[in-house]
Amino acid sequence: MRYLSTRGEAAQLGFDEVLLAGLAADGGLYAPLAYPHIAPSDIAALAGLPYAEAAARLIAPYLSDSFPLEILREETEAAYAAFRHRAIAPLVQIADNLFVLELFHGPTLAFKDLAMQLLGRMMNHVLEKRNLRATIVGATSGDTGAAAIEAFKGLDRVDVFILFPHGRVSDVQRRQMTTVADENVHTIALQGSFDDAQAILKRLFRAADFRSRVGLAGVNSINWARVVAQTVYYFTSAVALGAPHRHISFAVPTGNFGDVLAGYVAKHMGLPVERLIVATNANDILARALASGRYEPRGVTPTQSPSMDIQLSSNFERLLFDACARDPAVVRAAFASLDQSGAFEIPAPALAAIRAEFEGQAVGEAETTEEIARTYREAGYVLDPHTATGVRAARGRLARDPATPVVALSTAHPAKFPDAIERAIGLRAKLPENIAAQLDAPERFTILENNDAQIAAFIAERARAARN
Ligand SMILES: *Cc1c(COP(=O)(O)O)cnc(C)c1O
Repeated sequence: MRYLSTRGEAAQLGFDEVLLAGLAADGGLYAPLAYPHIAPSDIAALAGLPYAEAAARLIAPYLSDSFPLEILREETEAAYAAFRHRAIAPLVQIADNLFVLELFHGPTLAFKDLAMQLLGRMMNHVLEKRNLRATIVGATSGDTGAAAIEAFKGLDRVDVFILFPHGRVSDVQRRQMTTVADENVHTIALQGSFDDAQAILKRLFRAADFRSRVGLAGVNSINWARVVAQTVYYFTSAVALGAPHRHISFAVPTGNFGDVLAGYVAKHMGLPVERLIVATNANDILARALASGRYEPRGVTPTQSPSMDIQLSSNFERLLFDACARDPAVVRAAFASLDQSGAFEIPAPALAAIRAEFEGQAVGEAETTEEIARTYREAGYVLDPHTATGVRAARGRLARDPATPVVALSTAHPAKFPDAIERAIGLRAKLPENIAAQLDAPERFTILENNDAQIAAFIAERARAARN
């Protein structure tokens, strides 16, 4: 498979280059030249397969020659071997035609593990083939950093550096990052805010010398390999509910638009998806854009679902690209307008195309708490606050279309957000035992000033890529 940039001014690349590059050189995102078609009989044949095998079959058409199917199978098996549930992504029914897809059985209790565990192994494989090393640098307000560390720890070809704002992440989130003992993992407690950490990261990526010296690679949610890995659970859950003979809708707690974009890609690969419901919290740029056609970021409001507290949904660019018949001039104009005047209007035909597949629903703080309480009362099931926004939006959809099953994606384990759960139902959610034990290990992190040069020097001294 070859990939092109949504802005149309960067070279087409193969999968391996896209995997390492992250963002395209023209500032765009990479999209496959065409979505591979999975025939209905091949979708039906996924029924009952181990998750890792389904993943290998669905991901294979996106890759290049450096990943023969038997190598890919080894990678998917290794990626999902340590998950705490044998089904990897099990479904739980909580009401008539309403299902929760549990995506939190990985090492950091959030859905990002499903893609990141595979991404780490794929990157290591490509680097080995090319006899290269890479350095992953990430900024995190919590979940992404932990998922990246768990995915890249111990890998021979990669060093990982994660910046988090000192004193401003939760105790569980910090321990998830700092109790990992592997020598290729480096955690930096930045004396600054998350925005400071992200700004440093952006400048490091723009510093061409530094970038090539340490072989800087990106793992944030615009990395195409993450999107592809996330298509798998749309297929496995839909098949469990009767696809390809039956249509299914999905409700997805959304931040950067990576997870719900994977549902859209699954649909365009041939999965019979009825509707994709974009659930947001009070940070509702996507719900507003779908309703009004105007894409306009506002300030971020902190909520009890922090992983959805975003201003800009980066992966929306890929949807816009398709919706305007892949005309990169339209995408360039939209993002130029965003830079210059802080917003863009989605062209009318593109908006109509998007609305034919997606609907948006913003869920406020009080509604989120109410939903956690309601689902616990009616089904005895504890939702985390991110998942609660999805379940709330799913109920809205079911009221209008009761005949089509809705799968609400559960993106985090409730024990990651014990205060929100306690507020809603008066109980404290418990961490799984192996996780609780791991978090008691000694912590290891370095406190650094909010200073680019110091941080660049810290990384260059420790990155093995810089030595050869
Ligand atoms: C990252 C994250 C999300 C948002 O996913 P996107 O792909 O960024 O839309 C939702 N919930 C949780 C728990 C997350 O960690």
